[in-house]
Amino acid sequence: MIEIQNIYKSYGNLQVLGGVSLSVGRGEIVAIVGPSGAGKTTLLQIAGSLDRPDSGTVSYDGTDITLLKERKLAEFRNRNIGFIFQFHELLPEFTALENVAMPGLIAGRKRREVLEEARELLTLLGLAERLDHRPSELSGGEKQRTAIARALINNPRIILADEPTGSLDSRNREEIHAIISRLCATRGHTFLIVTHDPTLASIAHRVVSMEDGRITSISRQTDSEEKFGESK
Ligand code: ADP
Repeated sequence: MIEIQNIYKSYGNLQVLGGVSLSVGRGEIVAIVGPSGAGKTTLLQIAGSLDRPDSGTVSYDGTDITLLKERKLAEFRNRNIGFIFQFHELLPEFTALENVAMPGLIAGRKRREVLEEARELLTLLGLAERLDHRPSELSGGEKQRTAIARALINNPRIILADEPTGSLDSRNREEIHAIISRLCATRGHTFLIVTHDPTLASIAHRVVSMEDGRITSISRQTDSEEKFGESK
């Protein structure tokens, strides 16, 4: 579904990505791991059209988004890509419900429909009692769950997450792992996740290791379903 091909990117003299190719299938969780400075975030940003490669292509179901002009690209991003960052990046003056609804309203969808869906998503993520709370009135884990709901509001083709559990304690980290697994298993969402968190990487279907701007290995992890299938 997403086809990243032969991406090169340099900042000045520093080559950050040196020919990276990766494809992500629908309903897959792919984790990108590797030492700091390996180019993981840059790759994620290019995959999400927040940054442009020097060369190479990023195709979503055959559409090369590196060719889109800024306005079309913003529209494409809003409708097709959900983002989750290390720090929730919620707007402080808006409630959880309004924050989640925001990308839907920006997409020009009907207000009532978007608010209803935002409510459903927050409820699905266990925040039914927090709809009208502002970010300052939410715990770290609640803020990150709100950010996940916001990433889902336009039913994007893929959710790109950069260290989504990086600012959380272990209990909240586990909660986020469970949510990501569940969203993939029950709603077919696709995730590309940069992480230092080994248990988050362990829920991924594939783990991509990066070093010095290159992919050094891709390992497929058998999930419990496949293991069950094999033992039959
Ligand atoms: P990782 O996510 O694996 O830690 P990054 O993709 O954030 O790696 O960064 C890779 C390298 O690119 C680092 O050396 C970083 O300092 C450099 N870099 C990232 N973004 C920029 C930028 N906008 N300008 C200059 N250098 C950058």
